Amino acid sequence: MQIIPLPAFSDNYIWLIREGRHAVVVDPGDAAPVLEYLQNNALRLAAVLITHHHADHVGGLPALLAEYPVPVYGPRREAIAGVDRPLDDRDHVSIEELGLAFEVIAVPGHTLGHIAYYTPGHLFCGDTLFCGGCGRIFEGTPAQLHASLERLAALPAETQVYCAHEYTLPNLRFARLAEPANAAREAFLAECERLRDAGRPTLPSSVGRERQINPFLRCSEPAIRTTASEQAGHPLNNAPEVFAALREWKNRA
Ligand code: ZN
Ligand code: FE
Repeated sequence: MQIIPLPAFSDNYIWLIREGRHAVVVDPGDAAPVLEYLQNNALRLAAVLITHHHADHVGGLPALLAEYPVPVYGPRREAIAGVDRPLDDRDHVSIEELGLAFEVIAVPGHTLGHIAYYTPGHLFCGDTLFCGGCGRIFEGTPAQLHASLERLAALPAETQVYCAHEYTLPNLRFARLAEPANAAREAFLAECERLRDAGRPTLPSSVGRERQINPFLRCSEPAIRTTASEQAGHPLNNAPEVFAALREWKNRA
């Protein structure tokens, strides 16, 4: 199995999973890069996975479905034209053409119905967990997004994390403000700067790395509690409060 990032718009990745002559795409905001890749590699689309309803994740569905009338999986709690296999938390998805099985993890916060797709070793998490950061809260509450991220952070450390945007460098620069002394983060930031200078993605990340470098997964760290409390202007008493203050600070930063 190979997993390929197809760049779209200014900073989206449409993840394409291929095995044999078959492929699955996650969050095709634009059909053009997907159709081009399928044609150039003589692949047939087997299914589409959708994490949430935003246009940069679903916009390519009509054009893709016109060419490939395949099953489209997506969150039951969001009305998305084209989704014909609605999913709830802990549902299973199996895509026989690729010998792939996913478990659905409900991760509300960025949107209320947002779901992630997990198969051992791989997590497709849309706009919930980013490398070094997390999604903005558009529909949910900070407590919801914090709980969603805790669930993802509890997956095995080696799990590869396929986020839907290339936001790593700005995220890590914010992380530096939130937690100035973090040697692992500094080393990783230098590596990501080299990757971006070479025009390469910084993704996938991994759950283990995110636990080390991502301030939004480190809200229990005393150093982060301190900086977040300073920003909030009052003492923060627990990880959910630290998370809410960090998210608020990042919106302003
Ligand atoms: Zn989004
Ligand atoms: Fe997005």
